[in-house]
Parts: sequence; structure tokens; C-alpha cells
Amino acid sequence: MKIGFIGLGNMGGPMAANLATAGHDVTGFDTAAAAPEGVTVGRSAAEVADGAEVVVTMLPNGQILRAVAEEIVPVMANGAVFLDCSTVDVESARAVAEIAAARGLLALDAPVSGGVGGAAAGSLTFMVGGSDAALAIAAPLLDTMGARTVHCGPSGNGQAAKICNNMILGATMAVTCEAFALADKLGLDRQAMYDVASTSSGQSWSLTTYCPAPGVGPTAPSDNDYKPGFAAEMMLKDLRLSQQAAEAADAATPIGAVATEQYAQFVEAENGKGRDFSALLPRLERRGRG
Ligand code: NAD
Repeated sequence: MKIGFIGLGNMGGPMAANLATAGHDVTGFDTAAAAPEGVTVGRSAAEVADGAEVVVTMLPNGQILRAVAEEIVPVMANGAVFLDCSTVDVESARAVAEIAAARGLLALDAPVSGGVGGAAAGSLTFMVGGSDAALAIAAPLLDTMGARTVHCGPSGNGQAAKICNNMILGATMAVTCEAFALADKLGLDRQAMYDVASTSSGQSWSLTTYCPAPGVGPTAPSDNDYKPGFAAEMMLKDLRLSQQAAEAADAATPIGAVATEQYAQFVEAENGKGRDFSALLPRLERRGRG
């Protein structure tokens, strides 16, 4: 397929490279990052979108996505698919789908989980919003860049699934870190706490796959001095998107709101930027209630 790829950063670079390796004709554009091997460099977003059967975007936020959409939708080929894989607000995803539909184009929001490692390995999970017709065209590309695709419903629902999942993750990691810090103060050994909670009703992915306590459970960023992994500022971005969506939909998310505050404090006032999101544990273990 002839593919335009806009946003060749930490995620987009390896994703575009995997499409090229699979034999697709990929032309890429980024305002800063270099194109990976096998990807032809375009001079602008519009140039790489012109004539492409599928245009993939992997951009930092909804504002940039909307600006890129305004630029490329007018030049995209009739029947082409606008495949956005960025994590953005639900509203921007739906707005971009509408702009595309008004021009007779197909659109999908397909945010990912799996991180930079998953992007490089082609093992991402895609959460997709949009029509069956659009997904049928994009499916071979998603299968190349990822290992799993879940169709979540109409436009915007991929982003909705992503932020609901990550709100669970942020809140669960935060309280798992609190439980380890509390166990310390109660004189309960971390390994004993893990042995009980990991096989009891306190069990979660945050505890048993990504344990925030070093030396306990499987190897995780906590065993590597909390180098990410999944950086705290990325968790904060996703939590803020969840709260923005909750505000717009009038949904009560009190625990999600507290998790957002905790990560904002950590990232913006306590040098948490660049640390793994499980580094809330060393932050809490030094602290009392005051
Ligand atoms: P990144 O900052 O490394 O890449 C974004 C790229 O977009 C940059 O290279 C930047 O130069 C480029 N860009 C910005 N404005 C542009 C424009 N107008 N035209 C063309 N290029 C432009 O970020 P990333 O880590 O690759 O993340 C991309 C998206 O994927 C984000 O929405 C992020 O939330 C999401 N995501 C990231 C991860 C992760 O682990 N990094 C995991 C899941 C989802």
C-alpha cells in the first residue's frame, strides 16, 4: 500500500519502519525527527498525504492532530483512510473524523498500548474507533504494527477505551504504591505483602506484572532505578485526558481526579518527570501523613 506517515518520534519512527519492512511504500514527515531506514522523507504533511491510500498520524496531542488534519484532509485521495494512532482527547478524535467524513474520507482513531518496546517489536495493541469499512482497509497495517486490534465502536471510542484503561492503571498503581509504603510503616515485609496481595483480591497488573517495589515480583522498572518503562509524565497526560473527558460527559471520577493530582504533583513539583510512573513508591515511603 502507499502510506503517508506523519509524526516519526519515539513511537511513530519504529511503527513506520515496520510498515516499510513489510513491503509498503512509506513516505514520512516530521517537523523534527529523522525518518527511519526504508521510509522516504517528505517535505510536508500535505506532500506525504497526497495520493496515499492510508495516512497514519502519531502526534503529541489533539491540538497538533487537528492542525495536521486541516492541512492534509483537502489533499487526501478519495476513499483514503485517515488512521490516527496518537493518544488525544475524545473530542479531537471525533472532530477529525467529522472533517474527514465531510470530504468523503474514512477515519479511524486507533490509540495504542505497548509503548516504545511494543512499537519496535510490532506487538502493539490497537483500540479502534470508526467504521467497519475503514477498519477493513487499515487492518493489514494494524496487524503489521501490532499483535492485537480491538474494535471499540464508532469514532472516538478507541480514545475512550484508552483513557478508561489508563485511568484504572494510574489509580491502581498509585494505591499499590501506598499499600507498600503503609506495609513498611506497619512492619510488614514487602515480600510478604506481595505474596498475600498477589494471590488475593488486591491483585492487579500494577502489582503482579509491574511491581513498584524493587526486588519483589517479576523484573520491572522499579528494579532499574525507576527508569521508564512508562514515564510519569505520560501517565499524567492520559489521566488529564480522562478528567477532560469526564468533565465533558458529566461523569463522576473522584478517584481518577485524586490520581491525576498525585501525578501532577510528582511530575511538576517533585522532579518526577523522566521517572517511571511506579516511582510514586519511593516518593511515598519517605513521607508521613502531614
Ligand atoms: P514523540 O514526541 O517522540 O513523537 C511525536 C513526534 O511528532 C515528534 O517527533 C514531533 O517532532 C512530531 N511532530 C510534532 N508536531 C508535528 C507536526 N505538526 N507535523 C509532523 N510531526 C510533528 O512522542 P511519542 O512517544 O512517539 O508519542 C506519540 C503519541 O503516542 C502520543 O500521543 C503519545 O501519547 C502516544 N503514546 C506513546 C507511548 C510511549 O510509550 N511513548 C505509548 C502509548 C501511546
